[in-house]
Amino acid sequence: MDLLTANDRQGKYPPSYYADAAEHLDRFPAAAGDLTCDVCVVGAGFTGLSTAYHLAQRGYDVMVVEAQRVGFGASGRNGGQVATGQRRDQDELENMVGDAHARELWDIGCQAVDLVRDLCAKDEVHTTFHPGIVHTVHRKRDYQHGAAYVDHMQSKYGYEKITLLEPEACRDIVNSPAYHGGALDMGSGHVQPLELVLGLARLAVKSGARICEQSKVTGIDQGDPATVRTDGATIKARYVVLGCNGYLGTMQKHVAARVMPINNFIVATKPMTPEAQEQIIRNNYAVADSKFVVNYFRFSDDHRLLFGGSESYGYKFPKDIAAAVRKPMTEIFPQLANIGIDHAWGGTLGITMNRMPHYERIGGNILTMSGFSGSGVALGTMSGQIAAEAIAGQAERFDVMARVPTTPFPGGPALRSPLLVLAMLWYGLRDRL
Ligand SMILES: Cc1cc2nc3c(=O)[nH]c(=O)nc-3n(C[C@H](O)[C@H](O)[C@H](O)COP(=O)(O)OP(=O)(O)OC[C@H]3O[C@@H](n4cnc5c(N)ncnc54)[C@H](O)[C@@H]3O)c2cc1C
Repeated sequence: MDLLTANDRQGKYPPSYYADAAEHLDRFPAAAGDLTCDVCVVGAGFTGLSTAYHLAQRGYDVMVVEAQRVGFGASGRNGGQVATGQRRDQDELENMVGDAHARELWDIGCQAVDLVRDLCAKDEVHTTFHPGIVHTVHRKRDYQHGAAYVDHMQSKYGYEKITLLEPEACRDIVNSPAYHGGALDMGSGHVQPLELVLGLARLAVKSGARICEQSKVTGIDQGDPATVRTDGATIKARYVVLGCNGYLGTMQKHVAARVMPINNFIVATKPMTPEAQEQIIRNNYAVADSKFVVNYFRFSDDHRLLFGGSESYGYKFPKDIAAAVRKPMTEIFPQLANIGIDHAWGGTLGITMNRMPHYERIGGNILTMSGFSGSGVALGTMSGQIAAEAIAGQAERFDVMARVPTTPFPGGPALRSPLLVLAMLWYGLRDRL
């Protein structure tokens, strides 16, 4: 089964609130014939389009080939949370790779948010960066760890944009009985993700990049130049950049062994009044909780609660996504038990064993960045800038990311999904106990 069509129709966006609300682009033509370029980018999400934009800005001749539409993948469907830093906390990274490397990763994670914020200020990008993510603690016993972490970030990293929220202050912002305090990070924020990715496409095209839609890459032959094949075209390129994340399939086996696709789901409620919104979450902050299967939510510009909070690990999405997500939404906000749901959709993202992105050079001139593990709005966008730098000969930040070890999932392609399901069920169960 092919993830590119398992839950979606060829050439169509999913039935998301974002697709309904976005200012769409005209279709780009499919790639056809014998073509050449400096860099062929596969996948038109944050990673691919940011790569294309930053390379075109540097004067490279770039072609983006996308199997479906611009922003069809996770980039056009996600929770829109732009979180500072990496997916793993800094204290965990210090244990994993040492203090100096952890600091470099933190810097890149901060630059990633700055990049997204700067992009959102451009005319071509039709979304606003709304500051503030509240990280809520769902188990009372974890509050002290959260408090120590805030202290760690302030004292060791000089990061003053994060503040501790005691349980009462947290409840005043996020009106849910499910949480026991948390932290407010004003360095992070949220955006309308499909508008961000469409804006990146406008910027890439304006800078001279070519985009081809409905052009699925069926194979890549290594070499100099490399050859990228679609059904309709053969593209010779000095460099290839893979930005396919959870939709990569098995095209690159070494990557596929390390980056596992999983599905995640979101609903958009009916619009509320601005006053009702303030009764649920104050100040238009986004929220992400500490559960293993993270609940994340925020309001849209037209005052709908966008609630993400359920996962699946096979190819197919559940039949009734709205019902699957309503369950955690009602656990967090019992007062919304009867609210109407206008949109329910899912998407596929790539995770790694240690939840850190997998960066790799294949054969010298093929770069791949994926496995953002739920933090690709900032880090996917950043990866594009980093890939462009690396191709231009400045590989320092690429190497900082590539030095983080990412190991294969146990079990190989055949067994990894069942093993992952078991592991996820176990951790999910622990959350509920
Ligand atoms: C429901 C959901 C909620 C999420 N919430 C958040 C969040 O709040 N914050 C956050 O930071 N991250 C979140 N994520 C993760 C985030 O969306 C991803 O990490 C990020 O979008 C990855 O971007 P990308 O460009 O690497 O991949 P994608 O956006 O998935 O793009 C990959 C593209 O490659 C194309 N492609 C694949 N194979 C081929 C091929 N053979 N030929 C041509 N094209 C191909 C696909 O069609 C697709 O368009 C979420 C993900 C999901 C699914």
